[in-house]
Amino acid sequence: MKASLAREVNRILLVTAAAATAAIAVNSLWPLIIGLAGYLAWSTQQLFILYRWLTSEEHTEPPDSVGLWGDLYTRLEHLFRKEKRAQNDLNAVIVRAQQSVNALEDGVLLIDRTGRLEYFNQAAGFFLGLRQPQDNDQVLTNLVRDPALFSYLNRGKFRDPLELTVPNNENRVLQFRVTEFGPGDRLILLRDVTRLHHLEQMRKDFVANVSHELKTPLTVLKGYLETLLGSVPEDQTRLRRALSQMNQQSSRMEALVHDLLLLSRLENTEADRAQQAVLVYGMLNRMREDALALSSDKGHRVTVDVPEHARVLGNPAELESAFGNLITNAVKYTPRDGDIKIRFWQDDKGAHVSVSDNGIGIDPSHIPRLTERFYRPDNSRHLQTGGTGLGLAIVKHVMIRHQGRLEIQSELGKGSTFTCHFPPERLVSKPAAVAG
Ligand code: ADP
Repeated sequence: MKASLAREVNRILLVTAAAATAAIAVNSLWPLIIGLAGYLAWSTQQLFILYRWLTSEEHTEPPDSVGLWGDLYTRLEHLFRKEKRAQNDLNAVIVRAQQSVNALEDGVLLIDRTGRLEYFNQAAGFFLGLRQPQDNDQVLTNLVRDPALFSYLNRGKFRDPLELTVPNNENRVLQFRVTEFGPGDRLILLRDVTRLHHLEQMRKDFVANVSHELKTPLTVLKGYLETLLGSVPEDQTRLRRALSQMNQQSSRMEALVHDLLLLSRLENTEADRAQQAVLVYGMLNRMREDALALSSDKGHRVTVDVPEHARVLGNPAELESAFGNLITNAVKYTPRDGDIKIRFWQDDKGAHVSVSDNGIGIDPSHIPRLTERFYRPDNSRHLQTGGTGLGLAIVKHVMIRHQGRLEIQSELGKGSTFTCHFPPERLVSKPAAVAG
C-alpha cells in the first residue's frame, strides 16, 4: 500500500509538472487547469465505480483499476472474503449447536421477557405438541394452556422445578426447570419424569397400604396385651415385665403407623381449600399444658408469648400436629430444668410461630437433612426418647401445604429454635369463623 501511495503521489506530481510546463510554454494557465480537472474527473469516476461496487446486491469481482484505486479494490475484496469465511464458520457453529440441542432427549425452550417462544428443540416440540415454524414467536402459555404453568412463569421464582401432567401426550409428567438469563429471557429445560413419578407414587401407595394394613392387627394385639397385663398376678414379675415391654413396643409401632399414615395423607391429598381462622393462642396454650405433663418431674419451664388475637388461616388438625411435634421434641431433647419458649409474631412477611429450647442442640451439618423421614443425627438419641423419626417430616409437609416453610436454627450443646413461617395471605385481619 505504501508503494502504491508513493506511485499515486508521483502520478499527481507528474501530471502537475507536465501541465505546469505546458502552461509556461504557452504562457497560459489553461493547460494546468485542464490537467488537474482531468485528474479530478478520473478520481471522481473511480469513486463512483467503488460506490456502485460496494452497494451492488450480488457481490461481483472487483472493478479493474490502476495505482492506489486498484490496490484499494484488491484489499477490500480480501476483507470481504475474510468476513464471508468468518460468517460461514459462525453459521456452521450455529447449525452444529442447533443439531446437538435437537438431538437431546430433554426439551429445550427459549422464551423472551414477554413469554414468547424464541426457540424450541425437537424434544420440546414433541412433549408439548409445538409446531415448527407456526408456533415460533407465540406466547408459550397460549400454546400450553395450564394455570399451574402460567402462575409458575409469572411468579418468577424458579428455585424449585415445576412438575406438570401434559394431558394430550399420554399423560406424561414433565419437569420444567427455568434458568433466567439476559434482560428477562428464560431458558426452560423439560424432562420426562413420568417413570420417576410412577415409582414415587408406587412408593407412597405402598407405605400408605402397609401402614393401613398394620393398623388393625396392632390394635387387636395391643388390646389383648393390655387385658393380659391386667389379669397377670403381681407376683409373676418376669411375665409382667415381658408383657409390659411388649405393650410398650406395640405402642411405639402404633405411633409409627399413625405418623406414617398422617404423612402419606399429607403427601397424597390436596390441601384443604376451605381454610379456617385457627386461634393459635388457645391451641398453643393447651399445648403448653401437654408439654408440662410430658415433662412431668423434669421441671421444664414452658413459656408462651402469643397475643390473644393471634390467628392464622389453615387446617387446625394439621397445625396442631406440626406445633405439637415441635413442642414434644423441645421437651424430649431438653435436659432437666431447661427453658422452652413458644412465640407467635406477625409482620409484613406473614405470621411466625417459633419453639425454642436451651437443650442438647444439633450439629449444623445435620440440619439440612433433619426433615427427611427417619433421619436422626445420632441414633442413641431416639432410643432414649422413643420418637418415630417422622415428626419433623410431618412439620415440613404441613408447612408446605400452608405455603410456608420450617426454619431450623441450632447449636450443639446450646439449644435449638424451630420456626414455622406462614406467608402474609395466611394472616387473619378480621375475626372470622374460628377454630382451635
Ligand atoms: P424423632 O424425634 O422421633 O427422632 P423428629 O423428626 O421429630 O424425630 O426429629 C428428628 C431428629 O431431630 C431427632 O432425632 C433429633 O435428633 C433432632 N431434633 C428434633 N428436635 C430437636 C430439638 N428440639 N433439639 C435437639 N434435637 C432435635
